[in-house]
Amino acid sequence: ALTIGIVGLPNVGKSTLFNALTKNQVLAANYPFATIEPNVGVVNLPDPRLAVLAEIFNSERILPAPVSFVDIAGIVRGASEGEGLGNKFLANIREADAIAQVIRGFTDDDVVHVEGAVDPKADMETINTELILADLETLEKAITRYEKEVRGRKLGPEVLAAAQEALAELQKGIPLSASSVDLGPIRELGLLTAKPFIYVFNVDEAVLTDAAKRAELEALVAPAHAVLLDAKIESELIDLDPEDAAELLASTGQDESGLDQLARIGFETLGLQTYLTAGPKETRAWTIHQGWKAPAAAGVIHTDFERGFIKAEVISFDDLVATGSVHEARTHGKARIEGKDYVMKDGDVVEFRFNV
Ligand code: GDP
Repeated sequence: ALTIGIVGLPNVGKSTLFNALTKNQVLAANYPFATIEPNVGVVNLPDPRLAVLAEIFNSERILPAPVSFVDIAGIVRGASEGEGLGNKFLANIREADAIAQVIRGFTDDDVVHVEGAVDPKADMETINTELILADLETLEKAITRYEKEVRGRKLGPEVLAAAQEALAELQKGIPLSASSVDLGPIRELGLLTAKPFIYVFNVDEAVLTDAAKRAELEALVAPAHAVLLDAKIESELIDLDPEDAAELLASTGQDESGLDQLARIGFETLGLQTYLTAGPKETRAWTIHQGWKAPAAAGVIHTDFERGFIKAEVISFDDLVATGSVHEARTHGKARIEGKDYVMKDGDVVEFRFNV
């Protein structure tokens, strides 16, 4: 599943947000990995199509696409230096697909700001500097190792070259996602500044509906995505039933919770999409990359499905809703039989045929 690592300075609201995430346990219960690690929380990608399909197929349960979040300790200035403490903290997010940086925007004199004042821009710079320093350290260690391995002909020189190029960019203060270095050969290093970033501003409730303030914060991080939320409201929302939650959201001028936005934007940022399967047992969303072909998509369900792939019967969600059933969709020529070169579309409702 898609995994997003959460970073930020201390006291910006990470734990508050994360508590909301882990209270999501009812929804998360279907995903075993969520309960193994206490520092992992899950949000389901919101998808109103699932309930519609479950109705058509009379499904017993609905399984949306999960997005998991990994919490790490707060970064303080200098975390990447001194006894490798920072690196230990950061080890958890090396595996993440994307990084969500939580930035304090709320004003509250009772909550100490580690840097003395609420200043989103300065905080972002502190975090980004720490991440660059962490990557520099990773690269310096790797380069020492790579040099030996290249001399011993155990490693191709292109790996060392890529590491050296990346190091040079970071030394200029350029995060790797903004550089043109080909990081393919050094993917194993899980370099932090190479990951896509999502910025989460934890703001006062009033800011949520303040268009000018929103635009200001969004401009700070563009072209990356910004999510504005109030962590306190997020943790309240989790405790409410859907109707009351919708009411509370509406009262803050929003139609989607911050956590839902985060899941959705995580998908967008990483170029992911879902296809759907439905039957009496369950209606389910499966996560794939945009542009994937049918056999790879089948492989997400089971590797046997990919290996033994024969064909896929595909009905678009809209066609299925318009015709009302698989049977009617077939009768009206809306059920397509697709082969191994078919490029999956978001919202395809699929049944795979395969050899075992
Ligand atoms: P962390 O160190 O980043 O994990 O921050 P915490 O989640 O522990 O929050 C630090 C303090 O700020 C706690 O006392 C929270 O109750 C408070 N806090 C978190 N989010 C908000 C918010 O949106 N508004 C206000 N006023 N306080 C908040």
